[in-house]
Amino acid sequence: MNKDRESNAALTESRRGLMMILSSPSGAGKTTLADRLLRRDDKLELSVSATTRAPRPGEVEGEDYYFKTIPEFERMRSEGEFLESALVFGNYYGTPKGPVDAAMAEGRDVLFDIDWQGAQQIAQRAPNDVVKVFILPPSREELERRLRSRNQDPEEVVRNRMAKADAEISHWAEYEYVVVNEDIDASLERLRAILTAERQKRDRQTSLAERVRRMLRDF
Ligand code: 5GP
Repeated sequence: MNKDRESNAALTESRRGLMMILSSPSGAGKTTLADRLLRRDDKLELSVSATTRAPRPGEVEGEDYYFKTIPEFERMRSEGEFLESALVFGNYYGTPKGPVDAAMAEGRDVLFDIDWQGAQQIAQRAPNDVVKVFILPPSREELERRLRSRNQDPEEVVRNRMAKADAEISHWAEYEYVVVNEDIDASLERLRAILTAERQKRDRQTSLAERVRRMLRDF
């Protein structure tokens, strides 16, 4: 192996991780999209939030959420354990900071399923690392149909969430990407395209400067 090839082989590719935030009104398909995105991308991991709301049937502690009492949540918040936290539909939600810091330090990407308040807080703390994507339902009627077909929440909760959907949707313009989720496969491809493009950003490819320096050293 000549010297040039030797030195290029020794150059390990490194990249700064990114934080991809998905927000949407409840029922727009965000959770399904997040699950499928994660399954097809081994460089992406989910940020599992803490919440004070009760688990829904089938939800698993540590996979869907860390389910906390209000005093437990308040202790975590006062000890600075959250990257962001917010009151959503009468319950507290927060993003544990430790796993996100660890993933970012190792150049892995983190996916967040959080609301507009959380998106704003994380974007303020780490503006260069955040990619914000809003998922819109095709229509209000379709959103309501999807919320009802879940059949897990009482009528009052569904009505409450429909009312909150307007408030969540009103923040759509704070996101740099918007995907209208008419078809889950098409939306998934769009999310993958966003991720691919964002990973190629010059500033995120931290080994690029050294690669180019070696490439140009004879000039
Ligand atoms: P759900 O209770 O239906 O799982 O979630 C309700 C809303 O809370 C969703 O819009 C979801 O994105 C948001 N959410 C979930 N986890 C967090 C979090 O850690 N922080 C914030 N700000 N919102 C969250």
